Amino acid sequence: MTSQSRGTDTAGTAGGTRVLEAHVTVVDPELCKGCGLCVAACPPGVLSLAPSFNSKGYHPARYSGAGCTGCGFCFYACPEPAAVTVYKKGAEVPAEGGI
Ligand code: SF4
Ligand code: SF4
Repeated sequence: MTSQSRGTDTAGTAGGTRVLEAHVTVVDPELCKGCGLCVAACPPGVLSLAPSFNSKGYHPARYSGAGCTGCGFCFYACPEPAAVTVYKKGAEVPAEGGI
């Protein structure tokens, strides 16, 4: 699933934004230390540890791309303050940027 398919393109209004049609969780792979707490905390099991490594040698968590309920459990479970962001359905996000 691409980022475009998750949102309604509203480019041309509000500086090029779009409205998310589903909850989306984003993990910054460079801020993640691969502890797996978010994976264990996610009720629908839509997070996993990537087989690839980040620059620190950790397997970062990643979102499958579908099925997030927006519960925020991963955010609260994560010990790294900025590693996890949960975007709620209906949020207005930049049209570009990969969310
Ligand atoms: S917000 Fe909830 S459902 Fe979505 S990835 Fe995080 S723990 Fe899983
Ligand atoms: S809880 Fe945070 S640091 Fe641990 S794997 Fe998930 S995103 Fe990475």
